[in-house]
Amino acid sequence: MKVKLAKTAGFCMGVRRAMEIVLTEANKNEGPLFTFGPLIHNHQVLELLESKGVRTADHVEGLGSGKIIIRAHGIPPQKQEMLEQSGLSVIDATCPKVTRVQAIIRHYTLKGHTAIIVGDQNHAEVVGLMGYSQIPAHVIQETRDVSALPHMEKPFVVAQTTQNAANFNQIVNVLQRRFPDIRVFDTICDATHERQEEVKTFKGHVDAMVVVGGYHSGNTQRLVEISREQGMPTFHVETEKDLDKKALSQMNVVGLTAGASTPHWMIK
Ligand code: SF4
Repeated sequence: MKVKLAKTAGFCMGVRRAMEIVLTEANKNEGPLFTFGPLIHNHQVLELLESKGVRTADHVEGLGSGKIIIRAHGIPPQKQEMLEQSGLSVIDATCPKVTRVQAIIRHYTLKGHTAIIVGDQNHAEVVGLMGYSQIPAHVIQETRDVSALPHMEKPFVVAQTTQNAANFNQIVNVLQRRFPDIRVFDTICDATHERQEEVKTFKGHVDAMVVVGGYHSGNTQRLVEISREQGMPTFHVETEKDLDKKALSQMNVVGLTAGASTPHWMIK
């Protein structure tokens, strides 16, 4: 079987940066080291970090001293303040692309504009973004959610950085019909755009796609979704153990891509 590997498969800049920050700190061996929530949505990477003594903490009570790292998705500013007051030393590994969205939300909501965030309400990044809004923000995921929005004087729209670009554009079109003056910030990051565009180029050249990445990883799920939208049989796997060998043995050429939080050793 021939395997075509996507050029963009694997760690994005933000995840690589967060990993480097954590591993640099872990190698210093300077005492307890925590990440506030799982660093990324990838079990294998989390296991590796655990083996290096990095622990995941969901709250700060009882942790004592040490360092705590804010993950690439970011957190609400209120939580950051709580971390800073806990006595732990705080290291911020929020991806700069996420920081930019946080800044847009803070800036415009301070001026009285209302934020509409296209994303997954329960995703850590979106929870963090909502915390930056100075007035209640609205989170929507589909075009049909637009009609349920209340009347707004000065709305603006941003996207969770890993959203499906086509879905975002459709939602923006519907929003513009309802709110003609809406400000639009396409905050889907380049890494997401590139991965989504590349997966489309496999159409017609492969018999099936394999997408490697955490089952809870939003950006991996989007790649699976886009690959299926192209009509390609698509297998989402976390590890080699999940490969459907029987089904794949029927294929001559298989495309291979991976989410932005999938390490190269898993792709290999
Ligand atoms: Fe940053 Fe984009 Fe990677 Fe998210 S997917 S960590 S926003 S580069």
